[in-house]
Amino acid sequence: MRSAPPSPLAPPAAELSWLDLAESLAEEFARHAARLDETAELPSDNLRRLHEAGFDTAWLPAEHGGQGLSWVTFGAVLTTLARACPSTATIWLMHLGAAYGLVHMSDDANSRFFAAELAAGKRFANALSEPTGGNLFLLPSQAARPVADGFVLDGAKRFVSGCEAADYLLVNALVDDVPAFFGITPDDTLTLVPIWDSVGLRATRSQLITFNSTLLPAGRRCVRLTDEPNPIPVGLPFLSLGVAEAALEALRAHATSRIIPTTGEPLAGMQWVQFATATEYVKLRAATLLAGQTAWLADQRSPLTNPSSLEAKLLANEVAKDVAALGVKVGGGSGFLRSSPIQRHFRDAQAGALMAYSAEVCQAEIGKGLLAP
Ligand SMILES: Cc1cc2nc3c(=O)[nH]c(=O)nc-3n(C[C@H](O)[C@H](O)[C@H](O)COP(=O)(O)OP(=O)(O)OC[C@H]3O[C@@H](n4cnc5c(N)ncnc54)[C@H](O)[C@@H]3O)c2cc1C
Repeated sequence: MRSAPPSPLAPPAAELSWLDLAESLAEEFARHAARLDETAELPSDNLRRLHEAGFDTAWLPAEHGGQGLSWVTFGAVLTTLARACPSTATIWLMHLGAAYGLVHMSDDANSRFFAAELAAGKRFANALSEPTGGNLFLLPSQAARPVADGFVLDGAKRFVSGCEAADYLLVNALVDDVPAFFGITPDDTLTLVPIWDSVGLRATRSQLITFNSTLLPAGRRCVRLTDEPNPIPVGLPFLSLGVAEAALEALRAHATSRIIPTTGEPLAGMQWVQFATATEYVKLRAATLLAGQTAWLADQRSPLTNPSSLEAKLLANEVAKDVAALGVKVGGGSGFLRSSPIQRHFRDAQAGALMAYSAEVCQAEIGKGLLAP
């Protein structure tokens, strides 16, 4: 396939070895992606290998034991992983989001503790979304009541990716009517409810957790605001870009190999296929540049990072769905078979736009800003 020209937003040369490493891991991950989708097993080996290769801590600042790598490199690494196995990439992103959030928002002692646990290979997950709250995952409606050593939560959190393997959960709840965040160690007051029989991203195993008088210890409450970028808003657009790239490659492989009997030529020679593929390719390039700019803003510690991430997420989510839908059209009946990657990319492509902030919530925020009096 024609390759895109070099981007002004490419990873710095000194960090390219991380991208090479991600590409060699991704090659292996891609070999197991269809099986993991079929069985909906956690990709535990993939996650362990990412940890062993140093990826878990690489974007932490040096003061927390990391390499302080650029967020532009993070985007490129995440795209590579999502192209190979989007469930692995999603759990890894959520793991980093929870862990880095706890390192950056905790007091000094907890910050050191969580950074050391991350470096030791412990796993983190976000228990933020509430069944009734939907997209408002940062504005919990469930209140925790005060007790001697903290607060007690009765309630539920939904779609907690990778929760079955988590050693720590980032949990939020209302405390004195304001959202508060805690880093908790799961105990037997938590019950995992296996709701996750999903259409796409099946190996993320994003289950429901009920909290039955669970202690949110005062000593594990997040006490700081931080200017450090969080991996999740920066990374979500790149998850969709990886799925879109995989879908485009599956489309190309089918279109170039399928011979149409009436013409004796490959499907790729048909003008409608060329036109539609060109349109999606150009949209994908635009989405990649926009996501790259968001990562670059994160590298500048710009306050525009989060607003830009909504725009980048919206475009990347929509492009992934559009490319994957074109794949189904071009793939015909062959692409509709379970043995084809085309149908898997189509199912996986739906998830990005559903994950908070959903495409519609992004549109609402961007539109409100544009049309404000
Ligand atoms: C694969 C996957 C993994 C996830 N992983 C995690 C995780 O690890 N941790 C976690 O805490 N959560 C996770 N989530 C939850 C996710 O991020 C969202 O918080 C959750 O999916 C939103 O709730 P809902 O699906 O019930 O949608 P709802 O918010 O009920 O949305 C339903 C519809 O209403 C629209 N809508 C809702 N609010 C608005 C609004 N204000 N303006 C316009 N339209 C609106 C939405 O766009 C959508 O079309 C995950 C979700 C998925 C699908």
